[in-house]
Amino acid sequence: MAAVRRKVSILGATGSVGKSTLDLIERSPDRFEMVALTAASNVTALAQAAKRTNARLAVVADEARLGELEQALSGTACRAAAGRDALIEAAAAEADLVMAAIVGCAGLEPVMAAVEAGRTLALANKEALVTAGSLMTEAATAAGATILPVDSEHNAIFQCLAGNRLDDVARLVLTASGGPFRSKGAEEMARATPEQAVAHPNWSMGAKISVDSATMMNKGLELIEAAHLFPVPEERIEVLVHPQSAVHGLVQYADGSILAQLGTPDMRTPIAHALAWPDRMAVSLPRLDLAALGRLDFLPPDPARFPALRLSRDALRAGAGAPVVLNAANEVAVALFLERRLGFLDIAAVVEEALDLLGAPPVRGLDDVLALDAQARHEAARMAARHAAA
Ligand code: NAD
Ligand code: MG
Repeated sequence: MAAVRRKVSILGATGSVGKSTLDLIERSPDRFEMVALTAASNVTALAQAAKRTNARLAVVADEARLGELEQALSGTACRAAAGRDALIEAAAAEADLVMAAIVGCAGLEPVMAAVEAGRTLALANKEALVTAGSLMTEAATAAGATILPVDSEHNAIFQCLAGNRLDDVARLVLTASGGPFRSKGAEEMARATPEQAVAHPNWSMGAKISVDSATMMNKGLELIEAAHLFPVPEERIEVLVHPQSAVHGLVQYADGSILAQLGTPDMRTPIAHALAWPDRMAVSLPRLDLAALGRLDFLPPDPARFPALRLSRDALRAGAGAPVVLNAANEVAVALFLERRLGFLDIAAVVEEALDLLGAPPVRGLDDVLALDAQARHEAARMAARHAAA
C-alpha cells in the first residue's frame, strides 16, 4: 500500500540536520511534499533546496538578504520572505510535520509557533526544549501538537518506550560518545583549539553541537531535554559513556529488563523515524554490523573533566529560569571559543559563573524566557571577557 503523502516544512534546512532531512525527502519524492524551508543567511543553498523540492515558501532570517533570495527564486512558484515574522509564518504554515533544526535559542519562537498551531513537531532543536520545556509541553497539550524527538538518544528512548508505561520505568540512559577529549588530560583540554573540539570521533554535526559534545554540555542539555520529553524523576535519568556510539539510548524497566535502540551513528535513522512515524520508511544506509564491531563498551562519565554535566543537572533541579541561563551562557561561550576568544575550559567556567549570578528566576511565559536569555547572554559576555583577559 502506498504511504500517504506527508507535507513537511524544515526550519534550519541548510544545517547538518536540515540537509540530512532534505536528503531523505528527496530520495522519497512520492512520500513527501515540501511546504516551507528556512535558513539563517545562506541564500544560495536555501534557494537551491527550495527549487529541488518545489517548496512553496523559502525564508531567510537575515532581512538584508531578501532581495538576493527573491532573485534566486524568480521564475519559480516559491515565495521568498525574510525576518522573524516570516520564520514564524513558515513554522506555523500548514504541514503534517515540521522539522525543527535551527541551532540554539534562536529556534525557540518558531518552535513555539509550530506547537501552538498544533503541528507535529520533529524536534532536533534541543535548546528550545531546554529553555522553555514546560511552556512547550503545556502548549503542545493545549493545541494537540505532538513532539517527536529527533535527537538520537531521545529518539532511541522514545522507540524503547513504545507500548510501555512511564510508571514502569526504573531508569532512562542517555549514551554519550565522550567526544574528542574522552581520554585526554585536563592540560591538553585547556589548550584545545576549535579544530580539535569540532573533530567528533563518530558523528558529523554542526559546529556548536560538536563543541557541546567535546565539553559534554551536549549531554547536559540532553538530560534536561529528556526530563521534559519523558517526565520521570530527574534521578532516574542517567548518562553513560559509550565510545562506539552504537547504542543510542536505553530504558530499564521495573522488572529488570533493559531495552536499547542501536544503529550506525547517522542522524538519518532517527530523522527517518520521525518523518515516517508511526510507520517506518526504508533508508539505504550502511547497516550496523555487530560482528564487525565486536564489542560494546560502557563507562561512567568523568565529572572532574566534564563539569557541564553537573551544572546541567543542578540547573534541571533548580528549575524555573536556570536552564535558560545555562543555555544562554553556553551559547555565548561556545561562540567565543569558536572565534578563538575564549579557552575551552573557560566555557563551563562562564556557565557556572552565570548560574551563580543569576540563579533560577521565575519564567512565566515566552517573553520572560527571551528576556532572561538576553540578560544571561549579556552577563556571560562580560564574564567571558574577564576570562579572556586573564
Ligand atoms: P547547524 O549549525 O549545522 O545548522 C543550523 C541551522 O539553523 C542552519 O540551517 C542555520 O541556517 C539555521 N540557523 C542558525 N542560526 C539561526 C538563526 N539565528 N535564525 C534562523 N535560523 C538559524 O546545526 P545542526 O548541527 O544541524 O543542529 C541543529 C539542531 O539540531 C541543534 O539544536 C542541535 O543541537 C540539534 N542536533 C543536531 C544533531 C546533528 O547531528 N547535527 C544531532 C542531534 C541534535
Ligand atoms: Mg544527541
